[in-house]
Amino acid sequence: MKSLLVFAAAAATLFGAHAQTFPGSKPVTFVVPFAAGGPTDRVARDLAEAMRKSMGNGANFVVENVNGAGGTIGANKVAKAAPDGHTLLLHHIGMAAAPGLYRKLQYKPLEDFEYLGMINEVPMTLIGKPQLVANTYRDLENLIRTDAAKLNIAHAGLGSASHLCGLMWQAAINAKEPMTTIPFGGTAPAMNALVGGQVDMMCDQTTNTSGQIEAGRVKAFAVTTAKPLKSNKLLKDLPTLQEMGLKGFDLTIWHGLYAPKGTPPAVLAQINTALKLALKDPDFIKKEEGLGAVVVTDKRVEPAAHKEFVTAEINKLKPVIEAGGKFAD
Ligand code: ASP
Repeated sequence: MKSLLVFAAAAATLFGAHAQTFPGSKPVTFVVPFAAGGPTDRVARDLAEAMRKSMGNGANFVVENVNGAGGTIGANKVAKAAPDGHTLLLHHIGMAAAPGLYRKLQYKPLEDFEYLGMINEVPMTLIGKPQLVANTYRDLENLIRTDAAKLNIAHAGLGSASHLCGLMWQAAINAKEPMTTIPFGGTAPAMNALVGGQVDMMCDQTTNTSGQIEAGRVKAFAVTTAKPLKSNKLLKDLPTLQEMGLKGFDLTIWHGLYAPKGTPPAVLAQINTALKLALKDPDFIKKEEGLGAVVVTDKRVEPAAHKEFVTAEINKLKPVIEAGGKFAD
């Protein structure tokens, strides 16, 4: 009992006056730097629902899609937003890829944000339009070796996860010529084009591809993770790219939550506490797992740990991006 009282007193001091007024009647906006209906949007909408519950006190969360330039337009918008906790960025690995791809970024990923924590990890899948002549991964690789220039690969803009995956894959198979890349504002519209047969291929998160694979609207060739997804009923038989001979190929997408630099510590603490609780919400976990994603646990939701992780990812991705340079267009 005594320790409970001590905890309550500590929490009251921690959250301070700001926390009593935050979020108030004004909604908290998750800025998603990609199109509505895509994988990042999906995580944001499900998390918004879980955080509405975990934040309590009538908190209201909304999602705003600010697409374009591989997620950098949305990220820049949040970097410049009022630091009051009402505008947050929900971004993925693009947070760490952008510095290696853009010569002039209008924001500094490690300096212009308060890090709130990591959310999940998501595998990717290499998929093709239903009419693509390849049926297996081997067919696909052979097709790219002989006909790369005649084929195109859709992505969500320079520095997006789909772009990164496409260039890493083409570099790994040592393609002689680059495929034509077709950028979209997110992989939701790119998926529509793929299902409609207007583009040939894409590499995207399972949170976007699972439903289409299950419905047989796209062809699935491989997963990008180091290990096969044995516990996922739908994706368990897809080979990994390592199994297909691409030594060391291992790409997993992660999502994180960020606030503009200068957001008051008490507000950040309140959001982080609500985020940690939301990531334990059984409904949220079930939705994520159903789409092949893994929700991270407390240690990785610590702001300092997440910032350290993103710093390491920036350093890890730079040489990978340089190696894939000729496919980057
Ligand atoms: N999956 C996308 C990407 O390739 C982004 C999105 O639409 O969520 O980065």
